[in-house]
Amino acid sequence: MHLLSRETSSPEATGALAAGLADVLRAGDVVRLEGDLGAGKTTFARTLVTALGCDPRSASSPTFVMINISDAHPQPSSRPDAPARVAHVDAYRLRSSEDVESLGWDAIMQHGSAAPSTVLIVEWPERIEDALPPRSACAIVSLLATGERSRRIEIMLPDSWSTRPLVHELIERVPIRCQATGAWVRPTSSTYPFADQRTKDADLYKWFSGKHSISRPIEPDDAED
Ligand code: ADP
Ligand code: MG
Repeated sequence: MHLLSRETSSPEATGALAAGLADVLRAGDVVRLEGDLGAGKTTFARTLVTALGCDPRSASSPTFVMINISDAHPQPSSRPDAPARVAHVDAYRLRSSEDVESLGWDAIMQHGSAAPSTVLIVEWPERIEDALPPRSACAIVSLLATGERSRRIEIMLPDSWSTRPLVHELIERVPIRCQATGAWVRPTSSTYPFADQRTKDADLYKWFSGKHSISRPIEPDDAED
């Protein structure tokens, strides 16, 4: 398993990490969200569901409905293995794996992994252990509150995911605030550490123009060509 450990200082920073994880997920994957009440599992799940292309309104907490299935609308440029739907399960009120059978589990889990074209995200997975794939086959996200707004988040990824695109970036980089816009940037972003391409280009321009320092006052002729 690959382990990464991060300390986030706000829900937005946690969201940037979740969006990074979304970039390495494929249809059939299962994500376990572990941690006490208030640790940030639902906060993490919401960004994950949205980053996978689901409507943010459908990504609300499933605590009362227990299972929330959203259709993903991946961009036309998305990977062919992007999920077509995301199932978010909150198992807090379930007592055993048998309880899930009554919730249409067959449509979510098949042959030991999430159903084809589905990503499954589970809060309180330990309550329905028998209904889930072995831990070693899942992404495991464990969250711990270390202060009012600080969270320690550990993510374990199966070894078999090593060759997936962007896994390296997720492991090596930390979520960062864009210096220019202040927005949180996910570790897997192609414009990292900038929020977008325009900001990245602007910074590159500044960097280049900074290198060519001007040693005399600018004169009207300089503006030519
Ligand atoms: P859980 O599902 O684990 O019970 P929730 O996500 O519902 O937890 O609640 C976590 C609460 O903590 C939310 O109100 C969220 O805004 C707050 N919070 C504060 N700081 C953070 C952070 N760094 N990461 C995630 N959530 C945070
Ligand atoms: Mg929750």
